[in-house]
Amino acid sequence: MKHKPRKRFGQNFLVDQTIIQRIVDSINTGPGQTVVEIGPGQGALTLPLLETGCDLHVIEIDRDLVAKLRLDYPVQLNDERRFFLHQADALRADIGKIAGVDNFKLVGNLPYNISTPLIFHTFTWRKQISEMLFMLQKEVVNRMAASAGDGKTYGRLSVMTQYYCKVEPLFTVPPGAFFPPPQVHSSIVRLIPHHSLPVKVNDEDRFDKIVKAAFGMRRKTLRNALKLLMSADEIIAAGIQPSVRAEQLTLEEFAALANHVCG
Ligand code: SAM
Repeated sequence: MKHKPRKRFGQNFLVDQTIIQRIVDSINTGPGQTVVEIGPGQGALTLPLLETGCDLHVIEIDRDLVAKLRLDYPVQLNDERRFFLHQADALRADIGKIAGVDNFKLVGNLPYNISTPLIFHTFTWRKQISEMLFMLQKEVVNRMAASAGDGKTYGRLSVMTQYYCKVEPLFTVPPGAFFPPPQVHSSIVRLIPHHSLPVKVNDEDRFDKIVKAAFGMRRKTLRNALKLLMSADEIIAAGIQPSVRAEQLTLEEFAALANHVCG
């Protein structure tokens, strides 16, 4: 039976075979490796991924699509126990537990309506993940890769993603590669979790709070945006001018702010 794409689940299905192959080639997986796919949909990436010989876990929220995948997929794949369907909300799922191994790759043409919280959720398993490959709205990939001085493209997503991962934008994908076509261009990005983090942060919760507060009021100076977390004198003692704004601060400078012990 034909599936009617559901907007609330961000269902824009990939239909361009050249793009599909390019994405699967970029994942570079094979026998003995475990891959977790978020949002398999109707299986555009799923079957070519299975053809590489990897073990594949897919997490899909839409019960109708899970039922369809179960019907569509050749039974012998299940018998080989290389293909595992999980009907779940990826935002709440314990992705590491689903993968069941210490080293796996995470991939997905992510539902654009929840892509940012989903990316933050995946960082929980960064130590188990060797590589992530995501299709996202082009603008989100630009934000992930932005640096201090890039204006409003640079934000919390840039700082936190670059703290946890090396960000490699790969290629863009036009709306015509999907059905239904989205209203925006998309990009493929590769994220490689750092083995050793690029800056030393003593307390990651505090680092996250400072970055969030600084960009939460991005038009304000740090003196005002961080008022509840540190004083102007403490900002100066961390080596930063309180008159600057969040979008001017590098990852190192955010780390310096977070590491400063406030009195
Ligand atoms: N991978 C397919 C493709 O490329 O054609 C589908 C991609 S579509 C953009 C996003 C998929 O994620 C849909 O199948 C949708 O049902 C699923 N999805 C949406 N929200 C989800 C969630 N919270 N957890 C798991 N899957 C979700």
